[in-house]
Amino acid sequence: MQAARLHGPKDIRIAAEPPPPPPVPGEVTLAVKTVGLCGSDLHMYETGRIGYTVASQPFILGHEFMGLVAAVGEDALDGAHQPLRVGQRVAVEPAVPCWRCELCEQGHPNLCPNHYFYGLFPEDGALRERMNVSARNCFPLPDAISDETGPLLETLGVAIHAIDLSKIRVGATAAVIGAGPVGLLIARLAVLAGASQVFAFDKLHWRLQKARDWGATQAINVDECDPVDALMKATGGRGVDVAIEAAWSDHSVQQAAEMARHGGRLVIVGIAPDDNLRFQHSTARRKGLTIMMSRRMKHTYPRAIELARSGKVKLEELISHRFDLAQTAAAYESNAAYEQGINKVILRVGA
Ligand SMILES: [Zn+2]
Ligand SMILES: [Zn+2]
Repeated sequence: MQAARLHGPKDIRIAAEPPPPPPVPGEVTLAVKTVGLCGSDLHMYETGRIGYTVASQPFILGHEFMGLVAAVGEDALDGAHQPLRVGQRVAVEPAVPCWRCELCEQGHPNLCPNHYFYGLFPEDGALRERMNVSARNCFPLPDAISDETGPLLETLGVAIHAIDLSKIRVGATAAVIGAGPVGLLIARLAVLAGASQVFAFDKLHWRLQKARDWGATQAINVDECDPVDALMKATGGRGVDVAIEAAWSDHSVQQAAEMARHGGRLVIVGIAPDDNLRFQHSTARRKGLTIMMSRRMKHTYPRAIELARSGKVKLEELISHRFDLAQTAAAYESNAAYEQGINKVILRVGA
């Protein structure tokens, strides 16, 4: 089978590799069909690291993916505890927690210290034709969700978790800094959650347009004004109930803190390239902000599937570029360069 391995920063090579062994109990073999490219993948691609995880050997990226069940091991029960069958279309949640530690037992599998994650070093991801995955992480897809949009359920799951942490209330106001795929989905979910006003911020005009199309009250270009001033003007100096940072977690964190009202909430979703979180202490302290760090997701696939199936969230509108597995390096390059119109890049692995 063909696989795309990252050998070092900006060095992706396609090569033939042996297929995976037969699935063990609780596993299925997946014939991978599509993989989404994510901002966190870009960190790995550009620097060979994310946070304190350093890729010390070649490995396979790809944590947003779907495919066909090609073989089932014993007791291969899906995320809803139903038996999986060969030929089923499934999306796969990439984090595999231990299910038996303190955090797992308390309902926080996203915080499990004993987990592994498909596509995060050292665990190989989905940019290969076949892989074995935990059956429990598989969620069968209804026909209304296409192969191309299946990988975006992971992105939507990240957005759902951030919105859960924001505790946004009906009629409340929200600011979303960063309108990449995750930020756009957060803005959309804030609208669906009943926010009375949603302010979206980015520097790419096509992303701002999408935010407007999806119901944002105002979409503001951060290159054309001071975003905090613009937000304060629009809210009569009050700020927003909830500010969600979904960009590169750099000066955007300070901006988000300044946008939050006194007593408001700040949710940080973005990942900082230099692994540092910096903002002015007094900004957050004087306002008594509640600050939440958003970590992946927990069992959000069923809700994500329903939002996509019903059309409340139009995942297909996020896809801007499509590449085949053989073009993986080109796909990464165009995303890293923020090519005109770039939003979500989908790689087609299998037919
Ligand atoms: Zn992702
Ligand atoms: Zn655990």
